[in-house]
Amino acid sequence: MSLQTWLQSHPRFLEWAYDLTRRLFTRCDPLIRRVGYQRVDRWLMPFEKKAKGMAFDCHMCGQCILHSTGMTCPMSCPKNLRNGPCGGVRDNGHCEVRPQMPCVWVQAFERAQRMPVYGAELLWIQPPVNRLLHRDSAWINMLTGADVAYPPGWETVPSQVNLSRPFPLPAAARSGHD
Ligand code: SF4
Repeated sequence: MSLQTWLQSHPRFLEWAYDLTRRLFTRCDPLIRRVGYQRVDRWLMPFEKKAKGMAFDCHMCGQCILHSTGMTCPMSCPKNLRNGPCGGVRDNGHCEVRPQMPCVWVQAFERAQRMPVYGAELLWIQPPVNRLLHRDSAWINMLTGADVAYPPGWETVPSQVNLSRPFPLPAAARSGHD
């Protein structure tokens, strides 16, 4: 079993590791600010690219939402969808563009249900990806707030849905009618 496969089958561990890293960066923020965000970004980016590339097939979007998507990188989706699957998911849960590949969002849904802290964030509405942040360190953008500088009119909406229970289906779907 590859490291990536092992890690991705342990979303709870990844959630814990994410939280630890986030706290560490937040604690170090005053020091990083003194050294300079851009300078630290240049040092950090190659390590972040390597580590997250191995673990998550990271595409370095610079605005990481892994913890909100079941520790599954939404940029691995061939359509780069950040708000759930398209309408083309196959019956076997695979991608319509790459039939050999499981749908990123099917995996995100399954993994999010095993994440007690951030799992419910799967239902947050994510703003459009900002391509200007591509190849930046997402950790540095988290510290500067660049990763959440959303366009006017967009906001991430916290969900009231409890992922520890199955999603509530509309009455029509439960009864099998349109
Ligand atoms: S969401 Fe962005 S930063 Fe996070 S793993 Fe995916 S491409 Fe990388």
